[in-house]
Amino acid sequence: FRAVENYRARNPRSAALLAEAEQSLPGGNTRSVLFHGPFPLSMARGEGCRVWDADGHAYIDALGEFTAGLYGHSHPVILAAIQEALAGGINLSSHTAREARLAQEIRRRFPSMELLRFANSGTEANLLALAAAKAHTGRSKVIVFDGAYHGGVLTFAGGGSPMNVPHAFVLARYNDVDSVRTLVAEHGPDIAAILVEPMLGAGGCIPGEPGFLQALRTLADECGAMLVFDEVMTSRLSFGGRQALLSIRPDLTTAGKYLGGGMSFGVFGGRRDVMERFDPRRPDALAHAGTFNNNVLSMAAGHAGLSQVLTAEVVQALNARGEQLRERFNAVFAQHGVDMGFTGIGSLMTLHATAGPVRSPADLQGTDGRAKDLLFFGLLEEGVFMARRGLIALSLPVGDAECDALVAALDAVVARHRA
Ligand code: PLP
Repeated sequence: FRAVENYRARNPRSAALLAEAEQSLPGGNTRSVLFHGPFPLSMARGEGCRVWDADGHAYIDALGEFTAGLYGHSHPVILAAIQEALAGGINLSSHTAREARLAQEIRRRFPSMELLRFANSGTEANLLALAAAKAHTGRSKVIVFDGAYHGGVLTFAGGGSPMNVPHAFVLARYNDVDSVRTLVAEHGPDIAAILVEPMLGAGGCIPGEPGFLQALRTLADECGAMLVFDEVMTSRLSFGGRQALLSIRPDLTTAGKYLGGGMSFGVFGGRRDVMERFDPRRPDALAHAGTFNNNVLSMAAGHAGLSQVLTAEVVQALNARGEQLRERFNAVFAQHGVDMGFTGIGSLMTLHATAGPVRSPADLQGTDGRAKDLLFFGLLEEGVFMARRGLIALSLPVGDAECDALVAALDAVVARHRA
């Protein structure tokens, strides 16, 4: 349709860069989520909450690196921390003072993480949490949820992926306690872990209902399984993540993204008796190596951001801003009588081609993806950069003026397509 033709005409340089990348990278891509037709934009530069593409267009960055970019681009505190670390040598083949400091900051926020360890990504953190749960329980099965995303090799939308690690997964339905109860009745003594996102992130910012998440805590206790909260996305929803909002204490938690200050990062941790197995002095220790587990740039950036920028008040303000923005977006759709809407919590939201309640990925089946595409391409023309699949993740530099501009842009695009 015309929006795609406009897009092609506006972005010749991005198209050319993809063609160049195709010579060495399959599909010109090394990060599947970034691909979309006819070709993805190539960004040249970012500053605060703005990005500029290879063809020179400016955008409000409403995507915020899929939540990892919470601080915005080149935040002065993060920048200074990285520069200071860089100047002191980055591969020191040893412990440094930095990792304990970052661990302390994270533990202060997530008291359920009595002990924790670092990794290079959220994917790794989840793999390690599952390994820890299996080692601790001596069991093999893992309950996961249809539509969940825990990393490139732990993806369960549509039932799973051929790329997945070969764990003994059993699939339940999100926000459906009975589906979990049935699996627990059938597999109880074999279940090592229930792995759940407190809000489905990649699955469409679908909040886990408090009663559902509470029931998982109870069911895990009943069958002796570890409850693992994947807070890679949701850790930003309060000072102590979604678990603090709901007063649920998981056995293990995984996180990453912004907690490393925007550098490569993952963290998993939880109950002392589970995590102690990683103590290398133990004869039965679980070895968790990784050249970059304590890389000084992530340790420095992560610690600087948490200790100097991201106070409880700042986290709360960011999420309040997001709540308000989502309501304003949804009011725009309602005013124009368009059956679309954003779901989410706080600073995280996803666009859907339905205004109806969305409790699980099944509620999105049959909705019209083309309507989302129209908005996506239309918003780019209005100078708004978000994920093609509809994700918005606010970063700290997004202020009142940007929120007004985002709402105005959505209103303009919806009005144009209604006309
Ligand atoms: N878990 C959740 C809930 C995520 O949203 C993501 C990434 O988007 C991951 C895990 C994987 O993290 P990473 O991309 O750092 O491997």
